[in-house]
Amino acid sequence: MKIHKVLNVRAVSKTAFILRFNREGKNFEPGLHISVGLPGDENRPYSIYNGVGKDYLEILVKEIPNGLVTPKLKRLKPGNEIKVGKPRGYFCLPDNYNGEKLCLIATGTGIAPFHSFIESYPNLNYHLYHGVKDLSEAYDLNFYNSESITLCTSRTEEGDVMGRVTKAMKNIKVDQFDYFYICGSYEMLDEVYELLEDKGVKRDKIKTEGYF
Ligand SMILES: Cc1cc2nc3c(=O)[nH]c(=O)nc-3n(C[C@H](O)[C@H](O)[C@H](O)COP(=O)(O)OP(=O)(O)OC[C@H]3O[C@@H](n4cnc5c(N)ncnc54)[C@H](O)[C@@H]3O)c2cc1C
Repeated sequence: MKIHKVLNVRAVSKTAFILRFNREGKNFEPGLHISVGLPGDENRPYSIYNGVGKDYLEILVKEIPNGLVTPKLKRLKPGNEIKVGKPRGYFCLPDNYNGEKLCLIATGTGIAPFHSFIESYPNLNYHLYHGVKDLSEAYDLNFYNSESITLCTSRTEEGDVMGRVTKAMKNIKVDQFDYFYICGSYEMLDEVYELLEDKGVKRDKIKTEGYF
């Protein structure tokens, strides 16, 4: 792991924040994750949030009360040092990707790799379904083209769909999409995966990234 310097910590809700740090020459593909922690301390994996063209790296982190790492990351200030591992993972666009339509499905901070996809490729052909409790968890909502995102709010009526993201998935026509990417809690992953399979989507068209 290499030492990187914190550039900025931007709050996006009461508990979530975007940690920006210098890139130290790291190259990555959108969808990969990196291990991040304080020097000499535990580290955790985080999906890269920013697009490939930026000269910094960002991660979107939700503070977990009594978590070992996230409260420390939230307290970081510009100039502080963190250790960062090499980008890893498989949650990337398909080999030979040629503009096919993507269905991107996330809960909470699971939107992070999709933000990286879209910031990397502004003309990406996608529709994003984001499941959150309420509007406060719709991180950087204005970044997304409003026609390309369906916000599913489970505890309020502020979103496009009131209910969990699985409710929205039940109503989609799967043949309008070529690939399905699902990111967030294992519970949601399992539910959505099963639902897509029941609708006839082939396994090689579905990619998943589980967080907890
Ligand atoms: C490949 C991968 C990518 C990840 N990317 C991100 C990311 O982009 N942003 C992000 O915030 N997290 C991400 N995570 C989760 C992250 O690695 C940590 O697990 C999380 O930040 C908690 O760390 P902690 O040390 O503070 O809590 P810990 O001390 O490790 O955990 C405390 C408890 O909280 C639970 N927990 C962990 N995460 C959550 C959560 N989000 N919501 C509810 N309960 C939780 C754990 O299961 C545990 O029981 C990713 C995980 C993986 C495997």
